[in-house]
Amino acid sequence: MSFETSVIGPAALEALVDSLRARGYRVLGPTTRDGAIVYDDLASATELPIGWTESQEAATYRLERRDDEARFGFAVGPHSWKQFLLPARVRLWQARRNGDGELEVEEEGLDETPLAFIGVRSCELHAISIQDRVFLEGSYVERDYAARRSDDFVVAVNCFEPGGTCFCVSMGTGPKAEAGYDLALTEILDGEHRLLVEVGTERGADVLGELPRRAAAESDLAAAAAAVDGAAARMGRQLESGDLRDLLQRNLEHPRWDEVAERCLTCGNCTMVCPTCFCTSVEDTSDLAGESAERVRLWDSCYSVDYSHIHGGAVRPTGRSRYRQWLTHKFGTWHDQFGTSGCVGCGRCITWCPVGIDVTEELGAIRATDGAHGHD
Ligand code: SF4
Ligand code: SF4
Repeated sequence: MSFETSVIGPAALEALVDSLRARGYRVLGPTTRDGAIVYDDLASATELPIGWTESQEAATYRLERRDDEARFGFAVGPHSWKQFLLPARVRLWQARRNGDGELEVEEEGLDETPLAFIGVRSCELHAISIQDRVFLEGSYVERDYAARRSDDFVVAVNCFEPGGTCFCVSMGTGPKAEAGYDLALTEILDGEHRLLVEVGTERGADVLGELPRRAAAESDLAAAAAAVDGAAARMGRQLESGDLRDLLQRNLEHPRWDEVAERCLTCGNCTMVCPTCFCTSVEDTSDLAGESAERVRLWDSCYSVDYSHIHGGAVRPTGRSRYRQWLTHKFGTWHDQFGTSGCVGCGRCITWCPVGIDVTEELGAIRATDGAHGHD
């Protein structure tokens, strides 16, 4: 099925938000808050980060003014769509004592409000499809994730302004969205300010049908392609990613693990901001009288000592072992478990690491002395 590619003006984004809200979607998208571009509810397209960009480097993030009115002239911030599909805190059940003194357990209802995501980058589409594999396509389907993911409406945005820590080209995950969207926008600032709209699904076409638009001309297609090619050529980071699984397997005793452990605070920030990290734990609480109790699911991290606590103690008691676990899982054994890398090259873990640990640098350092230490 092929749909006509169209062009809309920036003002038509208001009609897009209106159309999605009228269809019952909870509309979510980028906005500025607390000195960063975050994802939140959007009541209007005027809440987009109009004229803002950011400067990103290891352990550095700063909002900056653009000299234009671009709606999507930035990369990714500390939030990812994970916060809506796999919220940081979800109650699983509650229990109350009834009149006979028996505890009655009630499973938490599902939030089935359909979600519409505006501004999903290509790396993030890949991250969502990785979490789909984890939560929907394995032997166990995660009911809460499945309810949140079902029927969500995705408006992708192709990047024209990569961040200083981005490396999606190295991971084969961007900067152009290829699948997994209802509509895909490419913002064009060269000449008339406009957005090219590609249609991915029938319902995307329905929504587009409600927006003021015109058919795309050859010059629009060429300008959009040039914008995305420009982003691909200006990636902040690069990573030789082809054989990382084997590289890591044969360097489990590399001295670089000790070196990075000297710097790593094991704070877990990298796992919180990573759009594919999915570790959670459960916590049970009760009131003092023993009349009610509840169980909640919370984001957890392989950097916490307790996360690897099994009978007898923690199996990864040192920072070295926990950093190595994270990196070798994300870039190595994830392939064995889920058939892909666990990294989509979004750069968040580099930007938001308080001490500026950079996965591309760590992997490069191991590669530089591959085979000189440990297993072969
Ligand atoms: S690598 Fe950085 S963000 Fe991750 S746990 Fe270590 S110090 Fe924290
Ligand atoms: S490991 Fe880092 S760069 Fe890769 S997806 Fe996670 S946060 Fe992004």
